[in-house]
Amino acid sequence: MYRAKRRSIVRLWVACWLLFAQAVSAEENLCVLVLYSNHRLLPANLEFEAGLRETLAKSTELNAEFLDYPRFDSESYLDAMTAFLHEKYALRPPSVLVVGGKGALEFVLRHRDELFPRVPVIHGAVPQSFLQSRPPLPADVVGVPIKFDFPGTIELALRWHPRARRLLVVTGVSAQDRAWEAELRSDVSRFQDRVTTEFLAGLPTDALLQRLRALGGDTVVFTPGYFEDGVGHLFSPREAVGLMAAAAAAPVYGPFDTFIGTGIVGGSMPNFAAMGRQVGHLVNDWLAGGAPAAQRLPEIAPTAVNLDWRQIQRWDIDPSAIPDDAIVRFKPPTLLEQYATETGVAIVVFLVQAGLIAGLLFERRRRRRMELAVHQQRCELAHASRLAVAGELTGAIAHEINQPLGAILSNADAADLLLASGADRRDELRAILADIRQDDLRASEVIRRLRALLAKQPVDWHPFDLNEAIRELEPVLRAEARRRRVALDLRLTATAPLLLGDRIQIQQVLINLALNAMDAANGLPEARRAVAVSVEHDADRLILVVRDRGPGIAPEHLPQLFDSFFSTKSQGMGLGLSITRTLVEAHGGRVWAESGSGMGAVFRVEWPAADGAGTPEPV
Ligand code: ADP
Repeated sequence: MYRAKRRSIVRLWVACWLLFAQAVSAEENLCVLVLYSNHRLLPANLEFEAGLRETLAKSTELNAEFLDYPRFDSESYLDAMTAFLHEKYALRPPSVLVVGGKGALEFVLRHRDELFPRVPVIHGAVPQSFLQSRPPLPADVVGVPIKFDFPGTIELALRWHPRARRLLVVTGVSAQDRAWEAELRSDVSRFQDRVTTEFLAGLPTDALLQRLRALGGDTVVFTPGYFEDGVGHLFSPREAVGLMAAAAAAPVYGPFDTFIGTGIVGGSMPNFAAMGRQVGHLVNDWLAGGAPAAQRLPEIAPTAVNLDWRQIQRWDIDPSAIPDDAIVRFKPPTLLEQYATETGVAIVVFLVQAGLIAGLLFERRRRRRMELAVHQQRCELAHASRLAVAGELTGAIAHEINQPLGAILSNADAADLLLASGADRRDELRAILADIRQDDLRASEVIRRLRALLAKQPVDWHPFDLNEAIRELEPVLRAEARRRRVALDLRLTATAPLLLGDRIQIQQVLINLALNAMDAANGLPEARRAVAVSVEHDADRLILVVRDRGPGIAPEHLPQLFDSFFSTKSQGMGLGLSITRTLVEAHGGRVWAESGSGMGAVFRVEWPAADGAGTPEPV
């Protein structure tokens, strides 16, 4: 009982193992055999297989066999090939058989029962014309037919060479070459209205090349290449077409994309790699269990215009005639394509730089606006300060005007007395009238200067004589000094120093410094109250010095002296020196104070001379 149970467990285990082993071997058996019509190194085969390998799962085993048409095609060879394939793959039968080309499909259909019965067949690169000329394929033989577009390529050639009057068609002598020739003879009939057609079929290659070398400019050449020439020399069509394109004195066109790069211009071509990929997808579907009937296959593999850009240039073909979807090979990349990274970086740098420049320009404009606003404010402040100073000078001004008015009155009284005397004293009366006119003019001049000083007028920037500007102020300053009982000593230079700037602003500087100096002299005994104003200059500089004999400036006050609102006076606003410094600096100059305690204060202002270097500009 126990033994029987143990035996049945062992049997079950063995059965499971066998099932598993079968499943694994079925998995391992996923192998695909590709049978090509032609030679192993035919470019079309290489392209096709590259596309196929790219698409198949990595685990799929791929074997390839070659019938080597048209070099080998005898019946006995084909029988031997059948036996060989049967024998070779007896223990590793393919899961799917792929056939590349018409010859391989014909072979498989004939020998299928001896080779791999019931193994599904997928064909690639088989012309549609062949499939249409024979009975329908069995249900487990499928594929996407192709059409080598001979007429489409010739049409293209005639469109790109509108002056061509002659079409030369070159073919060979192998069975495949003859089949192409027959197809072409029927195709060219549709071009007979446009060109005369000549066939060079089966010439020895040397003779052919000689003919091609002698072609005139009115000819275009079309060729599918050939496998065998008139003296039995074998070629791949690509080799043959390469020789032709190198020799021909006319543009050469062909229908296979493997010809691109040999020297032909181009053509309307199906793509062998794409065919390989399409077959690969069909194989994958089949191996995944898809029934052939369920596969919806395209009617025909697509073709595209392929061309060699170098030949387009060589034969002076109008680039605008090239269709937008054409595949253009050997076109040198544009500078932009060639240096994409560098160009990208350059564009980024350029944009960043442009951004920075824009930012800087914006900042500059903003700064300029702010400077203008500051300038405006400064002018307004300076004007307000002048009005305040005018208030301080009221006494002096009143005195300045009163003096001529008093003189006028005295003169008028004297004239009255003369007239009352009844004597004819016209000369004296004339002299009195002249004095009155003189005094009137003096009073008017005081008022004119005062108005000029106090008026709110735009900055008037031009070179002016500093001595002259000081002299204009002299009457008011002297009047103020007299009023305060301060001795005023003015020392101007003999030659006229020129200063570039606004005369009124510079006069304001002098008034501020002179009134401060008189303020400082205030507390002193009358005999010591003195203020000296002097002008010095050399080739480059003008210097204005205002000195007094007051208490001087305490060392701790020196650093803040020119700050706004710094004042040690009970009624002081603390703006005079701050405005003075602003005005001096706006004229490219500098102002500073020197003081020894108890020795009085000295204020020095220094400007560049108007014709010297570093002449300032108004802001
Ligand atoms: P304010 O005259 O209204 O005080 P300023 O800006 O003209 O304003 O002067 C600021 C301060 O500088 C004065 O209060 C004073 O302390 C000092 N100062 C200016 N000039 C002299 C001077 N000649 N001697 C001594 N101190 C002076």
